[in-house]
This record gives sequence, C-alpha cells and structure tokens, in this order.
Amino acid sequence: MVTNTVEFPYRRSLGPVIGTFVAALARGQILGVRSGERVLCPPLEYDPDTGAATSGEFVAVGPVGTVRSWTWVGEPSDRHPLDRPFAFALIQLDGAGTSLLHAVDAGGEGAMRTGLRVVPRFRAEPKGHTGDLAYFVPEGAETTDAGVVDGAALSPVAGGEPGVVLEPVETMEFWSSLTYREALSAASERYARSLLAGRLLGQRCPTCGKVYVPPRDFCAIDGIPLGEGDDLALPDRGVITNFTIVTPVKYPGQKETEPFVRVSVLLDAPDGQLSESGSALMGLQPVVDVTNEEVRVGMRVEAVWLPEAERNTDELGNRGWGSTSGALTGWRPTGEQDLSVERYIDRVF
Ligand SMILES: [Zn+2]
Repeated sequence: MVTNTVEFPYRRSLGPVIGTFVAALARGQILGVRSGERVLCPPLEYDPDTGAATSGEFVAVGPVGTVRSWTWVGEPSDRHPLDRPFAFALIQLDGAGTSLLHAVDAGGEGAMRTGLRVVPRFRAEPKGHTGDLAYFVPEGAETTDAGVVDGAALSPVAGGEPGVVLEPVETMEFWSSLTYREALSAASERYARSLLAGRLLGQRCPTCGKVYVPPRDFCAIDGIPLGEGDDLALPDRGVITNFTIVTPVKYPGQKETEPFVRVSVLLDAPDGQLSESGSALMGLQPVVDVTNEEVRVGMRVEAVWLPEAERNTDELGNRGWGSTSGALTGWRPTGEQDLSVERYIDRVF
C-alpha cells in the first residue's frame, strides 16, 4: 500500500450572494436570502427549485437551528473542520426554509439526534472565509475551544432586520487536498522488496528483448503479459543519457529551493556489459557528489544506496520510470571515462 496526497491552493470569487453571507459570518451572524415565500440558507443566487434569481434581500436567520439529518465522523482527517470526532449535519436555522451542511461538535455520537437544537460557534479571529463559522454545538453546551466564540461576542449586524446590507467578501482562498491509498501491483511489490534489499529489479520481454525497470508485468511494445519469471536483477551502474536542470519557482509545500538536476540513467546490461538498445532506463534520478554544471551526457554513474535500516518505499507507486526515492541517495560519477555522446544523442527511452 502506498498513500498519495494530491493538494493545491486555489482562489475563488464568491459573487454578491455568498460574498455577503461570508461577510456576515465574520460579524457573528448567519444570513439567508429571500426567494419567494421562503428564505434560503445557505443563500444562493438562484432558487434550486425553480432556477429563478433570488431576491437579493438578505435576512438574518438562527442563531438556533434544528438538526434535520446527520452522520458521525469517528476518525477525522486533518482536512476535517474538527480534530475530534464530530457529526456532519444538515441544520435548518430558525427562519430558514432550507438546511445548511455543517459540523456539530456534540461531544459524542450518543448526543446526536435528528431534531437536536444547535447553536453556532464562530472563529474569535475571523478571516473573511466560510470557515469563520467554525461549527455548531448543542444548545446550552459549554464550549471549551479557546478559538471560538458565540456570535454575540463579535459585532452582529443590526439585530436580524430584513434587508441587511454588507460589503461582500470578493474572493476566498481554498486549500484542496485529497489523500488516497493505492495497492501496489504484484510487479511493483517485487520491485519494492528488491529496493529494500539493495537491488534494482527489471524485467525482460522474451519477444522484443526490451528490459523494463521497474517490472510492469507487460510489454508495452508487444502488448503481451510478462511475469515474475521474466524478472532479472540489474547492475546499479550506468550512463547518463539525458538530464534536466530544474530551477524551482515558488509554490506551496516547496522542498527544493535551489536549482537541481534530474538525470536519465541507462543501466548497464544484466551481464554487466555496457548497455545497448533494449537495456533499462531509469528516469528522473537525482545525482550526488557532482554539481549541476558538471553533469553531462555520457557520464558514467553508480547508485549510492541509503543504509539498509534507513531504506523505505513510502513514495513508491505503480507509475513512473523507476522511482528510487527512499532507497537511493542518488547517482554519483564513477570517475570512468565518459562514453561517446553520439551514442546516446537520439535516445529518449
Ligand atoms: Zn516486448
């Protein structure tokens, strides 16, 4: 199993309706918008039943609401609104005709029920974000969270009068994050085990003779399945056939700050001879003991393995061109004479 996380920040514009809703949250108040006979909360630009534009007339709702439906989250992730077990609930605020999806900090699953009366808790230091409405608690419950307050502790807009006018919040920063677990294929598991043992494992197609690393259990050229019987150990030496110097731009979660190089390493043949076409190539490999400027096509390199106790395959997935992350520190020059550039100049894989 490997755990993958895909995450990125983005900024969204809120528009006049949600923007006003968010502006009110920063002041400890929840607004709905009038649409015909009813009030929609959360407010929307269009009535979900008819598609007609809503009135633009904002109405304060709540602060007390009724749980209409709920589900218990026993093991919150780090992206959930609370770091302790809580309920996601549809909450119909008093005065609203629709329900708002939000979190309820009930203290325990046994305290949750449909019909439960709940009150909102707001961030003591609002940021102009939907998260300023932190969560709901059962009416009358004590709040021990230092960062949240009752709405009255902020500065509510004039007491629930219809036609509330606020300057809308225009944009909001979001952090999108998805974590998922992926089962390694049988071939990837064999590759992972070999890395932990300090060996590079490849696979040779009996039809075309091409050697793949890591093994994939199929030949992409012939379209045939391969198996464990086609696996073979490969030398951890080779030649650089391509390289890229990456100059990092600033991005969230950045680890590299200085320009770094990634190289393609054509491994020596399984019998230890210099490789020819059909041999295995590992892409996007790091280098050690050599500056970016010194890296060149034709340079002979060898793998630098991490000490066995420190090796891991945490970042190994089923894709890619031979990740060695967690097993190798990188590839260092052997000091042997370079091979001819012409030999590799037209080679991609
Ligand atoms: Zn083949």
